[in-house]
Amino acid sequence: MRESSSDITSAQSEDSPSITPTKSNHVTSKLDVKSLTKEELLAYCAEHGWPRFRADQLFQWLYQKGVHKFEDMTNLPKKMREYLQDNAFINRITPSLEQQSKDGTIKFLFQLNDRQENDKIEAVLIPDFYPDGAANRLTVCVSSQVGCVFGCQFCATGKMGFFRNLSHGEIVDQVQYINEIAMEKYGKKITNIVYMGMGEPLHNYTAITQSASIISDPLSIELSPKRITVSTVGLTKQIIKLADEGQPFNLAISLHAAIDDKRDKIMPINSSMNLEQLKQAVQYYYQATERAITYEYLLFDEFNDSIEDADALASIVGWAPSKVNIIMYNNVAGVALRRAREDRLDRFMNRLSKHKIRATVRRSRGDDIDAGCGQLAIREGAPRGKSIA
Ligand code: SF4
Repeated sequence: MRESSSDITSAQSEDSPSITPTKSNHVTSKLDVKSLTKEELLAYCAEHGWPRFRADQLFQWLYQKGVHKFEDMTNLPKKMREYLQDNAFINRITPSLEQQSKDGTIKFLFQLNDRQENDKIEAVLIPDFYPDGAANRLTVCVSSQVGCVFGCQFCATGKMGFFRNLSHGEIVDQVQYINEIAMEKYGKKITNIVYMGMGEPLHNYTAITQSASIISDPLSIELSPKRITVSTVGLTKQIIKLADEGQPFNLAISLHAAIDDKRDKIMPINSSMNLEQLKQAVQYYYQATERAITYEYLLFDEFNDSIEDADALASIVGWAPSKVNIIMYNNVAGVALRRAREDRLDRFMNRLSKHKIRATVRRSRGDDIDAGCGQLAIREGAPRGKSIA
């Protein structure tokens, strides 16, 4: 289903105009404390006469200890717990399925709590190991939306269409739950987060910036913003906003084609925000932040893996200091694009190195459980949401 140009315009607004969970429970009208930002939580506590340190304790129970009941917040005064019990609740997503790949990657299916259509999302834990088998990097790939409006040709999520944004609490919940699993399995907390799961993160700008801020808070998981990467298909307005606001995490551009005609074919967003517009946003971002940009480039067989494509990619990398990840695509059922052959990969990489471009090849992780790049999606045959593609 192709949407009108006004849908494309709305897709470029800072937050998508979608159903987002409200701050209150639809049955009881109690307040969902996890719908509040830290500042709102502090204000809520202040309004009720609870001192700042009580607000910090409440925040810590929610986001560091992962407690789901006010009665378990044992260092809060009994009266405060009782008040919260009567007037508030703690929304949370529920893990409903876990699949482990032969390479150690684990895909999690979560049930949302709002009984909306397509109320499930996926997130992935990608472990890297030292030669002795001990865990090294533990990367979590989180979802930011239920489905996605952007309809990239190679992406299983895009085929679902768009249903709704996740709240910042629902994004933090994915991280928090997977962090607990990492502690259990590997005895250490997660080391990196990438917003590269279901959805376009910058299409849900407020929730992703709020969730990243909570995740890096010292009273939460306390992951350095340097270890948090937000990806985008290239929403230029939001890239500029990230720069203007001084958001401290890393930016990755899902590029996947370096020539407009080709990018138009696989990423509908490119017809309204082309590579020249992306260039201006990226250069603005770099001038403001001085942080290198990462480009993600899925290599498709005989589509974007020619010498000409490598030359075009090399010129884009020259826009601003950058890193390039060449990703070997995990084939998706019903998608004609296929993973590039090894000989074409070698030729592509050699050409990049002639341009003195340092690029890293990222091999498939979790493709046996459909947990790789572009493979996250829920249920075949489910109803389809909104899309610009
Ligand atoms: S690649 Fe990202 S932006 Fe494109 S359809 Fe998939 S989730 Fe959406």
